[in-house]
Parts: sequence; structure tokens; C-alpha cells
Amino acid sequence: MKTMTCKQLGGACDHEFHADTFDEIAEISKKHGMEMFQKGDDAHLKAMNEMQELMSSPNGMKEWFEAKRKEFDALT
Ligand SMILES: [Zn+2]
Repeated sequence: MKTMTCKQLGGACDHEFHADTFDEIAEISKKHGMEMFQKGDDAHLKAMNEMQELMSSPNGMKEWFEAKRKEFDALT
């Protein structure tokens, strides 16, 4: 089981996610992001906007994802 925080995954708080695979942790963090989005949390809305900008460039999202995957894999 590995741990990454919301902030580490492009979010805005120190909430910790635990998962065995990167795909799993990405999914959990996405759910958390959506929850905070629905609550209208300013910090998370801002973080989401930044993510959206990243996604507007063709390779932006892919590169971001790969970088985070490496970060996850490097955890012990
Ligand atoms: Zn968060």
C-alpha cells in the first residue's frame, strides 16, 4: 500500500490516499476531487482549473500522468 496526498496528485489539500497501484490512486483522487468540486471548495476548484489548462495541450495530461506515475512507483 502506498500513500500520496491530494496536493501531490494535483489537488489542493493534505488528504491522503492509499492504494497499491497508480491507476487506483488516480481513481480515488479523482473521486475526492469531484466531491470537493461539488461542495464548491475554492482551493480544489482552482486546482481543477489548472489541471484543465494542462489538458488543453495535447501531451500535457499524458506527461503529467507519467510524471505522477513515476513518483508513485518511486515510493516505498
Ligand atoms: Zn483535496
